[in-house]
Amino acid sequence: MLFPSSKNPFNRGVAQRGSSVPWTDGIVPYEFAPGYTPTQVEFIIAAMHQLERLIAINNVQCIMFRPRISSDPYYIRVTNGNGCSSYIGQNTGVTMNRTVTLNYPGCFVQAIIMHELLHTLGFFHEQSRPDRDEYIRVNYENVILGMERNFEKYDNSIADTLNTPYDYGSVMHYPNNGFSSNGLPTIEPLQPNVTIGQRANLSAIDIQEVRILYNCSATGITLPLRTTTTAPMVHLINITLSSALTVNNPTYDRRDNGNSSCYYDTFNLSVSLAGTYYIGSNSAMDTYGSLYNGIFIPNRPDLNFIASDDDSGDDSRQFQLQLFLEPHVQYTLVATTFSNMVTGPYAVIVSGPQRATLILTSIVGTTPVAPITTGSYSTNPATVIYMINTTVSSALTVNNPIYDRRGDGNSSCYYDTFDLSVSMAGIYYIGSNSAMDTYGSLYNGSFIPNRPDLNLIVNNDDSNGGTQFGFAVSLQAHATYTLVATTFSDMATGPYAVIVSGAQRVTLIRTTIVGTTPVAPITTGGYQTNPATVIYMINTTAFSALTVDNPIYDRRGDGNSSCYYDTFDLSVSIAGTYRIGSNSAMDTYGSLYNGSFIPNRPDLNLIVNNDDSNEGTQFGFAVSLQPHARYTLVATTFADFETGRYTVVVSGLQRVTLIRTTIIGTTPVAPITTGGYQTNPASN
Ligand SMILES: [Zn+2]
Repeated sequence: MLFPSSKNPFNRGVAQRGSSVPWTDGIVPYEFAPGYTPTQVEFIIAAMHQLERLIAINNVQCIMFRPRISSDPYYIRVTNGNGCSSYIGQNTGVTMNRTVTLNYPGCFVQAIIMHELLHTLGFFHEQSRPDRDEYIRVNYENVILGMERNFEKYDNSIADTLNTPYDYGSVMHYPNNGFSSNGLPTIEPLQPNVTIGQRANLSAIDIQEVRILYNCSATGITLPLRTTTTAPMVHLINITLSSALTVNNPTYDRRDNGNSSCYYDTFNLSVSLAGTYYIGSNSAMDTYGSLYNGIFIPNRPDLNFIASDDDSGDDSRQFQLQLFLEPHVQYTLVATTFSNMVTGPYAVIVSGPQRATLILTSIVGTTPVAPITTGSYSTNPATVIYMINTTVSSALTVNNPIYDRRGDGNSSCYYDTFDLSVSMAGIYYIGSNSAMDTYGSLYNGSFIPNRPDLNLIVNNDDSNGGTQFGFAVSLQAHATYTLVATTFSDMATGPYAVIVSGAQRVTLIRTTIVGTTPVAPITTGGYQTNPATVIYMINTTAFSALTVDNPIYDRRGDGNSSCYYDTFDLSVSIAGTYRIGSNSAMDTYGSLYNGSFIPNRPDLNLIVNNDDSNEGTQFGFAVSLQPHARYTLVATTFADFETGRYTVVVSGLQRVTLIRTTIIGTTPVAPITTGGYQTNPASN
């Protein structure tokens, strides 16, 4: 980052005599143009305060943003216009227009706002430095025609590096593919193994340069201390979720340098009210948090990235993100550590105007916690008097699924599954009541029938009096557990009840998929399966429509096709062959992916593509699916820019899970790119 010299003109005109780039006394008065909601204004002001806090030395403030008063000769006007941009400095003599444009939602990432405010404070982009050609190469042949101006280099008469080194890690540096016309890099670092274009936070050198320009001091009180820096927090509602990183957690290359290995957890995060949310941690570990739009792809942590943070929390080793979250959007929070291979307990706290939904979704490789041996389950009134019971009645029948409970290759026990979650952490007693000899198992997250050893927390046969299972277990709030109720012996059937006792009523929902009885196929008009096999098929149908608000991708991969598409999460609970097809007046086109679909790399993860195998112009294919794997179905059209209604039908041995996951309309972050997170072009 570097700032323009005040004694020479910025390249748009001639500086006025006596003009100055730095704001007088470090004070930037502001006003907001109409066009923002109160929560959006709050978010921008909170980013201003965060910038003040980063520049402050020993809490002595050095720059300040405050509402303008009538006697202010200069002030910025924050406007919800197109793109993210700011003029440079208080007064370069060029214009009296000091509009700072922060488009909602495109610019509503804290580091992007701070990037623009650094322009306001007087700084150019890092790659405009006079010495930049010693550090980067600009590939003008890849720059969008007309955008070359964004790669201008300023000489020493205009720009001052403040004697700081070139900073690849500056928040003011463009990414590799900024303004790229063809996806190829527009900027290439000349040094190996450096990352450019980060929009997570100010770098140490960014902070140092502001302090130099504004003569910040660690001792002198240059500005009155702000006494209400934590004021926004008092109106917030917190949700806290405890977890722990263990050697059973997955790892990923967090620093994306090819050799970092950090254990991590993933959380689904969503909110029902738009607004500013604070996402932080509390731990003895040095934590590191990242937020993603939609899914997190461990081997491509740059995709879907919104923001990350290492140490902005109150305790200096804790992450804290401040973000504007949209309602009903699925975000993924990745909680990890600054260093490799660190394990330990921690908590995530999300604060905002309303309670957020935060669900731990990490898939751990083996048992995440040691099995709990509790001796005996007791229904003694003395121990349950403070307990609140939740009871669910069920029955095992010949229509229930079976699994190899003893893991000896030949046991066959009918079972039920239940989703179990609690809203208050604590010890819960879980047991059964039945004439059968029952057997209970609790799993962290999912139960995988052909791998009953995975995710297991506790097993029990007879601890609850006679032949009934029972155990005590410490449950976390808002985590999803799976209770498996089965029998000690093979092929036993009969009614039973599950009772969960604890400090509060729990959520206990039977999720067993029953019914091996063949069901007549649903006639959908277009989709026909083989008559010889359909009588054993169960259909799952999803209705949707492609509209101009759908995302597009280059379906033919020829660089210029543009097809609207939908994505669906698809998973099955029984392995087997499934037929997947469409019914529509459009000429549809279907693709199935293993795991994630990456729109700008549709060749990755691809299992099968089909255009017209299913009667006329409808896609259709048969594919062998594994249970509890996650597949992505992409439904699109043969031709570009086609819109219309359609139906997806999946036929197989059992009902499948088919959930539309398309993100429609404007999204708060830039489109997925392969070169990192990219901000809006306009800047100065
Ligand atoms: Zn900029």
